[in-house]
Amino acid sequence: MEKLHHYINGKAVKSSKGRNGPVFNPASGEQIAEVPYADEVTTNEAIDVAKAAFPEWASTPSVQRARVLFKFLELMNQNKEEMARIVTREHGKTLPDAMGSITRGLEVVEFACGIPQLLKGEFSENVGSGIDSWSLRQPIGVCAGITPFNFPAMVPMWMFPLAIACGNTFVLKPSEKDPSAPLFMASLLKDAGLPDGVFNIVNGDAEAVTTILNNPDVGAISFVGSTNIADKIYTTASANGKRVQALGGAKNHMIVMPDADMDQASDALMGAAFGSAGERCMAVSVAVAVGSAGDEIVKRLSPRVSSLKVGPGNDSESEMGPLITEQHFNKVKEYIKIGEAEGAELLVDGRNIKLQGYENGYFLGGSLFDKVSPDMRIYKEEIFGPVLSVVRAKSFEEAASLVDKHQYGNGAAIFTRDGDAAREFSNGAQAGMIGINVPIPVPMAFHSFGGWKKSIFGDHSIHGTEGVHFYTKLKTVTSRWPTGIRAGAEYNFPSMK
Ligand code: NAD
Repeated sequence: MEKLHHYINGKAVKSSKGRNGPVFNPASGEQIAEVPYADEVTTNEAIDVAKAAFPEWASTPSVQRARVLFKFLELMNQNKEEMARIVTREHGKTLPDAMGSITRGLEVVEFACGIPQLLKGEFSENVGSGIDSWSLRQPIGVCAGITPFNFPAMVPMWMFPLAIACGNTFVLKPSEKDPSAPLFMASLLKDAGLPDGVFNIVNGDAEAVTTILNNPDVGAISFVGSTNIADKIYTTASANGKRVQALGGAKNHMIVMPDADMDQASDALMGAAFGSAGERCMAVSVAVAVGSAGDEIVKRLSPRVSSLKVGPGNDSESEMGPLITEQHFNKVKEYIKIGEAEGAELLVDGRNIKLQGYENGYFLGGSLFDKVSPDMRIYKEEIFGPVLSVVRAKSFEEAASLVDKHQYGNGAAIFTRDGDAAREFSNGAQAGMIGINVPIPVPMAFHSFGGWKKSIFGDHSIHGTEGVHFYTKLKTVTSRWPTGIRAGAEYNFPSMK
């Protein structure tokens, strides 16, 4: 069995003693690797190394930092299929889905390659007589990223390319469930010429995270994961004086208006609810069907959900792979039981599929609930599996108010041909990312990604200009040369003359 490692100061660091955890292939249920769990000493060592590497990296011209990222981009593109295989083996998602997620991550690297332009400051000449003023953005120091299992390559790429492009050094604590993709990226960063110590990985669980939160040398923390942990990370890290962006869970709604193209809307719902087995923070898990759209959409979805092709991610026929772990598989099945008990109509039950040769894999078929109501747990809570709930609404107003009242506000979409309804929805919806006839409105790298309400804690979204601001501190210089006007000592609050 493969024994994984940490990555500190440009080297693989094996841990001979201490705690380890299993990494499974979710399609077979077999343990395929063992990953070390960093203790306090190892985690602090990685932070010390990143701190030591910071001054030189921060003073490296931004064009040179960008060149390293260009090279990394080239190497990643050359190794994209290998990366996708690694993601599929440990996560379970289908290979084309894994490829798509890597492409979306690489868009952030492409964006970060433009860092000299992004870091350009502002200059005002003659703000007072003989006085000039300019603003610049400087790196923070050691930044840390803590990432979830569902996008083992893309979500780390939301963070480290921009952080290091800005001149910071980085410590990543990936998900312990699928840690190999980040380790592979670390080796490509080294091949791209990134100096040792600028990018480090500590594998592990809460112990490593707690150490990161408490280490005074970590200046900023980017977290993506479930809401309870995001809340805890935000509270602790900000109390410790750090910058924090902590992105949490979701329950994304898609409103289907009666005037929508029903075939297009049902295609969109199939992909958005069941792609990646629903293990996406931008998955649509609630379809809000307005008026006559209810029967139309359910009639189209039921046969398609029943005939979803479920199988291992490396089988080109599979539309949906397994869930990540046995524990999560059981949790999602439990939610289906809860939905039945709550009185929702279970139109398609995905619990009873058996795949020959993969009897120990964590496979669940697609499940479809109709007549779900807002007081049910299956509506209120994030299930994070291939379970779609249809809620019937009488009007646009009722549908929109469901989006607004929900505890989560990551993404929300509307399918309609009515421009007024689309505009009113995008204007008023209490969510951070809105789709108009687009079911999964994940912003491109040059915009920023982030939800509202319990889907985010902290002020900045991820990547785009928000990311540049998150990973830099603003400084404004006001300057006068001694040869300028000499006014003598001024005892009043300075105003420019
Ligand atoms: P998770 O919260 O269990 O884990 C995320 C990270 O936190 C992992 O690195 C994990 O090791 C660490 N962690 C877990 N328990 C911890 C604890 N008690 N103390 C400190 N650290 C801890 O999330 P997950 O199951 O890996 O990922 C799925 C969740 O992530 C879903 O809720 C999903 O919606 C969310 N997610 C959100 C976004 C977004 O952009 N909003 C994107 C992807 C995933």
